[in-house]
Amino acid sequence: MEIINRRQRMSSVARKIRREQDRTVGLVPTMGALHEGHLSLVREARRMCDVVVVTVFVNPAQFGPGEDFEHYPRDLTRDTALLTDYNVDYIFAPTVEEIYPKGFSTYVNVEGLSEQLEGASRPGHFRGVATVVTVLLNTIRPDFAFFGQKDAQQALIIRRLVKDLAFDTEVVVLPIVREDSGLAISSRNLYLTSDEQNSATVIHKALVQAKKAFKEGERNAHRIIDVVRNTIDAEPRARLDYVTVADAETLEKLDRIDERPTLIAVAAYVGKTRLIDNLILNKVKKKDVAAPQ
Ligand code: AMP
Repeated sequence: MEIINRRQRMSSVARKIRREQDRTVGLVPTMGALHEGHLSLVREARRMCDVVVVTVFVNPAQFGPGEDFEHYPRDLTRDTALLTDYNVDYIFAPTVEEIYPKGFSTYVNVEGLSEQLEGASRPGHFRGVATVVTVLLNTIRPDFAFFGQKDAQQALIIRRLVKDLAFDTEVVVLPIVREDSGLAISSRNLYLTSDEQNSATVIHKALVQAKKAFKEGERNAHRIIDVVRNTIDAEPRARLDYVTVADAETLEKLDRIDERPTLIAVAAYVGKTRLIDNLILNKVKKKDVAAPQ
């Protein structure tokens, strides 16, 4: 395994693999502090691709003022050890200056999907995400790029970006990996005290309650939202930021749930830590889902 810090080196290595060796390249973009969620993506990349590149880059452009960019957990030594065990071929761990050299002034904005949910709470977040992913896709030109459904909105935005900007990459989105408690695994869980970890399970519990209400026949999105709100409000250490019921493909807010795949997405603070989670209420059977475009 090689750790690459330079964009130019990464680019020439990837070009060589594709052109001279005719091998497929899989990209797993991460911000490091790796956990089982990331590793599920790495495992699938390893299964599907000849060569696996994992990027470890805490992207300043996707953090707002007052967010946790400075404090975000970083441990490249541990990440490297984990990725060695997973037979990853390359870690691309550039510095901020390497991705955003002096004079950098081109940003990518995926309109329509970026403004609501996370985008409303974190203005500019997805502009930062779309920009860095564009730089990574252009540098590496992977055949496949792997993302988690944990960041459902991000996954939709990346699919749109890849389609609109005609990248020759297939986006693969994989399910949310959870603790036994149901808590969605996240690097930010490291911020939680053990009491807060217990409290944080309320987020998934609230989503499960919502799904139960849906399964029992509730189709009014506002009543489903109330189920989530009431469950989270009952946990003293948790504070709801938003809960939204939306079309899982367009993110259009829904009043009534119909046949369309429907996403219910939550962001909540537990103590000072902001966590997100989601689920699809009316999972469409695999054979009914159109192949991603
Ligand atoms: P991050 O390092 O938080 O930027 O995440 C890198 C990638 O891992 C993103 O595509 C995330 O959606 C994905 N990811 C993070 N947590 C999980 C999880 N619990 N389950 C599945 N994928 C995840």
